[in-house]
Amino acid sequence: MARRKKIYEGKAKTLYEGPEPGTIVQYFKDDATAFNAQKKDVIEGKGVLNNLLSEYFMLGLINIGVPTHFLRRLNMREQLVRSCEIIPLEIIVRNFAAGSLATRLGIEEGTQLPRPVVEYCYKDDKLGDPLVTEEHIAAFGWATQQDMDDILSLALRVNDFLAGVMYGVGIKLIDFKIEIGRVYEGDYQRLVVADEISPDSCRLWDIQTGQKLDKDVFRRDLGSLTDAYTEVARRLGVLPKTTTPIKPTLIN
Ligand code: UDP
Repeated sequence: MARRKKIYEGKAKTLYEGPEPGTIVQYFKDDATAFNAQKKDVIEGKGVLNNLLSEYFMLGLINIGVPTHFLRRLNMREQLVRSCEIIPLEIIVRNFAAGSLATRLGIEEGTQLPRPVVEYCYKDDKLGDPLVTEEHIAAFGWATQQDMDDILSLALRVNDFLAGVMYGVGIKLIDFKIEIGRVYEGDYQRLVVADEISPDSCRLWDIQTGQKLDKDVFRRDLGSLTDAYTEVARRLGVLPKTTTPIKPTLIN
């Protein structure tokens, strides 16, 4: 097979030129990083789990009418997506206090917020993805007011969908991060949910026990990350069924 052209290598994924114009192959790596890549490890199987979970969430979103960049899964580690121009913002939606919000505002982790809180961070690893306001976004031209209205509406729809799906399998959606891309269709552009949706970019707590089933397991050394992600995948039914060995038929 001809060597594919690598477009970009990120912390958890590598992007290759896709087979048709306007498409990209997302390859999910086993690399785990936290605290702006100061903590690193290779977690066997993480890439496979995130590929399957991201496919599950993106397909669910498409089925309820939320546009995403997802086209189809290619194999256990790769999916084909539409090429888009990523808006340089991390969009964070929070239902319960945790992580940087809990620290910044002195709210105990796990406290339910009065309503979903949407935050924006400027995507720049060198700066540590700083929190920005809509004022910065407009002033520096990262997105227009119309984009921001669309982004807020997409973020809240993703939140309702994900929170509902997770609640159905006994998991509380504490918060998550999404990225949004621009897709051009002739003279028009539309915004789509891009990148990935996986336990790498969500906080997920078991409703009964409060056990963490997301990347905090790695960030805070709470046990096996693969076990946590496998549990999420198992509850959602996205793990491939184990094949029962086929018994040879005896022919008389
Ligand atoms: N998040 C992410 N990528 C980032 C920063 C945050 O996926 O670069 C996710 C994180 O997993 C959590 C949510 O966004 O689900 C909110 O993260 P927070 O701002 O609390 O930052 P953290 O405490 O993770 O540094």
